[in-house]
Amino acid sequence: MEAREAITNGVGGVQTAGIHHITAFVRDPQVTADFYAGVLGLRLVKKTINFDAPEVYHLYFGDQAGSPGTIITFFPWKDSRKGRIGGGQVGITTYVVPQDALGFWRERLAKLNVAFQETERFAEQYLQFEDPDGLRGEIVAREEGANSEWSFSGVPTDKAIKGFGGAVLFSTAPESTGKLLAEVMGLDKVGENGEYARYRSFGEIGNTIDVNIAPMAHGSGGHGTVHHIAWRAKDDAEHVRWRTQVAEHGYQPTPIIDRQYFNAVYFREEGGILFEIATDPPGFARDEPQESLGEKLMLPEWYEGHRSEIQGLLKPFVVREWEEIEL
Ligand code: ZN
Repeated sequence: MEAREAITNGVGGVQTAGIHHITAFVRDPQVTADFYAGVLGLRLVKKTINFDAPEVYHLYFGDQAGSPGTIITFFPWKDSRKGRIGGGQVGITTYVVPQDALGFWRERLAKLNVAFQETERFAEQYLQFEDPDGLRGEIVAREEGANSEWSFSGVPTDKAIKGFGGAVLFSTAPESTGKLLAEVMGLDKVGENGEYARYRSFGEIGNTIDVNIAPMAHGSGGHGTVHHIAWRAKDDAEHVRWRTQVAEHGYQPTPIIDRQYFNAVYFREEGGILFEIATDPPGFARDEPQESLGEKLMLPEWYEGHRSEIQGLLKPFVVREWEEIEL
């Protein structure tokens, strides 16, 4: 690894703390809950619908509160075509566990018949696996970041996933993507290892972003691929500044959209990856108590009048521990 001097955000503008959430396409809500809650031990913090397609769930998994930087979200779409992971996508989602927890996860994945490979990148060990839809994930152990308070399915809090370690971006135009991360998003370039350039944000989780150095051919969307990556804005005022900052650099952000649990702005970057900027507030306790997050189907007010119709279109599923799952 060649250490480089940090490049700071040249615009003197807003900087992101790191990843807010990552959203992917899958097929089946039960299969997804069994993997992300049953195997990885995450909490289902919100069961709602895709606001643009109410016949499809939008499932959010994270730590006890669904804190920004811990949230992996899914659209389970039964008849979706199989996607191909490639350029223009988040290629690998990185989950971070406490420093001494890698051995626990090595044993757990083996016991639960999740095939994994051990690899090294920037002098860190990674356990890389695929979820049942083919989404690529990896686990890394780091000191930084608070432990999760959520224990489920035999994962104690001192071994549990703390949130995202970061992500590996697969870009069709990595120079542009890197420039965007450093000069607009406010990350520091911290190194290159031949295959990847590494960028870091100031937050303690969701902070380490690797980008391929050689341009990668386009993948195609569908189940088993990531749809977008969202970055944190600390509040609504900063979110407005973000939209301006992105537009001033020539990107074309959408208007600010109310996503109930955060406000969102989307734009496509030059390497093909769909970026979102999402506000930390109000969060998932906005419409149900923290103790029972994710237990009930939550709908925004404008869909409440159609609840029974919508519920009839959604396949029921349960969140269960791995012992209850036939592996
Ligand atoms: Zn999003």
